[in-house]
Amino acid sequence: MKRRALVAGAGASALVLAACAREQASTGTGPSDQHFEWKMVTTWPPNFPGMGSGVNQLVKNIEAASAGRLRIKVYAANELVPAFEVFDAVSQGTAEIGHGAAYYWKNKTPASQFFTAIPFGMNVMEMNGWMYYGGGLDLYRELYARPQFNLVPFPAGNTGVQMGGWFKKPIRSVADLQGLKMRIPGIGGEVLKRAGGIPVTLPASEIFTALQTGSIDAAEWVGPYNDMALGLQDAARYYYYPGWQEPGPLLECIVNQDAFVTLPGDLRSIVELACSALNDQMMAEFFARNANSLAVLEKDEGVEIQPFPTDVLRELRRYTEEVLAEMVVENPDVAKIYESFSGYRQRAARWSAISEQAFLKTRNL
Ligand code: CA
Repeated sequence: MKRRALVAGAGASALVLAACAREQASTGTGPSDQHFEWKMVTTWPPNFPGMGSGVNQLVKNIEAASAGRLRIKVYAANELVPAFEVFDAVSQGTAEIGHGAAYYWKNKTPASQFFTAIPFGMNVMEMNGWMYYGGGLDLYRELYARPQFNLVPFPAGNTGVQMGGWFKKPIRSVADLQGLKMRIPGIGGEVLKRAGGIPVTLPASEIFTALQTGSIDAAEWVGPYNDMALGLQDAARYYYYPGWQEPGPLLECIVNQDAFVTLPGDLRSIVELACSALNDQMMAEFFARNANSLAVLEKDEGVEIQPFPTDVLRELRRYTEEVLAEMVVENPDVAKIYESFSGYRQRAARWSAISEQAFLKTRNL
């Protein structure tokens, strides 16, 4: 286990060593004298519950831990750049740091989707295990370090397993997916399409109106806490689980590589540690608030909370494997990352089955 941890950390160590070498070659100013003012762009609405509030805490933690030597001003989506331009803005240095989700950048590189969520993929514990001890983070950094991207990514938040979404009509069989117009991005959307549905991609701010007016029949966003923030319980009656499409979506901080290596070593460590703390804290916040919001939805809002029928999930799973197999053939980065991801998922699934899964069943006896 120790040896595996050292191997997993090798990529990060190389990055730090390279940065130290550049630092020594620079002006020779003492690290404690240097102050940095950074801009942070995000894909979230201002102060959005969970994600936006987590980012605000991250910035406070970095400023406090650095005694004010690294100050970061946060810009919500559209304040400096639109949500889906965060990757380019940080890559090009318009902002030094950004927060969002890697699967938003699938048009830059489809392999990025593995670093957020894959349908029927991994839950939050399995995802963190792959990232920190299973080779995932090294692959993530290798991909983002390409000259055209010029980024250093850090795991920085997770919503935990999501809900399957809000539906105006019940889903009783695979036939009910035919012609279903649903807000569902990424690979999940492609899977729905193969099952006969019509996937739509909408930003958070547009989901409620689209669902309420009937321009879409269904929508997935996150889970009870975040979905109630959008008021989705007033737009559809049926709330399905589980979130097969996003079982443990990881969020990311991305830092411009030139900006990162310019920081003295202690500030680089502070950025890394603050992101790691956010990764834990956001998950804890979502878990606690989802439990509270679920109770409200069940008792006060009269929402019909139901599991997807097994044959529907089986069909979606089958199409997921079909989509992934095609992606592996089309893209060598996907092939390399998929090999690590799927090998790890297989081992993790066995351990999860006789640990968390077995325990949760026991608790309900
Ligand atoms: Ca979602």
